[in-house]
Amino acid sequence: MTTQRPFRWQPHDGKRHAVHHDTFPTQHTTTLCGEELTIPTTRATKQQWCWPTCTDCDTAWRLAEGIPLPLQQRRTTNGPGPAHMLAVLSHSTRG
Ligand SMILES: [Zn+2]
Repeated sequence: MTTQRPFRWQPHDGKRHAVHHDTFPTQHTTTLCGEELTIPTTRATKQQWCWPTCTDCDTAWRLAEGIPLPLQQRRTTNGPGPAHMLAVLSHSTRG
């Protein structure tokens, strides 16, 4: 079972966000939670990998893969919902 994950983690602005797996350095993209960023050309430092996981990205990732949400993440109902995030994501990956 070597299922390719659709996303990967990318440290950005104090948190680890999820971005599309096939993003490449210098590419301008959008995280699953809607943050815009440019993929850095240097690998994230060990310290950056210790940043807290972005719960919005984690939630969107789980929804995309059909992974059940842990209980403590079910109360993220404010702001744009996961459906909106996924819509943004699919738009940003076309073409
Ligand atoms: Zn995020």
